[in-house]
Amino acid sequence: MKIRFVVPTADIVNEERDRFLTQAMGGCWHDRGSGNPVTMFTLQGHICSKCGLFFSTATDYSTPEDFLRLYEWAKNDPGLQAFVATFRARDFMNEKRGPEKRKQFADGLYTLLSARGKDEENV
Ligand SMILES: [Zn+2]
Repeated sequence: MKIRFVVPTADIVNEERDRFLTQAMGGCWHDRGSGNPVTMFTLQGHICSKCGLFFSTATDYSTPEDFLRLYEWAKNDPGLQAFVATFRARDFMNEKRGPEKRKQFADGLYTLLSARGKDEENV
């Protein structure tokens, strides 16, 4: 009998991680507040109750588009170079390895930065 593992693609930790990383980058974690959905061009979405921007989906660093912003940001932070150097950039856009590598990167960055945050609190 063959046993296959199914790797979960959406961990429960994802949203907390994505919120943390978005805010670490100085971005707004958009909040729909109590507003009604709006349609802009052909997109259904919401106006963020915090920053006033239109958004259609929550930032998700497992998608190539959002991931690239995270990667570029981390790459330009001198304090994160050692972490970034443990990855090969071309793996992230690899059709097979990409999703898992992007997850490893985002998870690792989250773990690293949240641990740093705790260190600072304890000082
Ligand atoms: Zn916002």
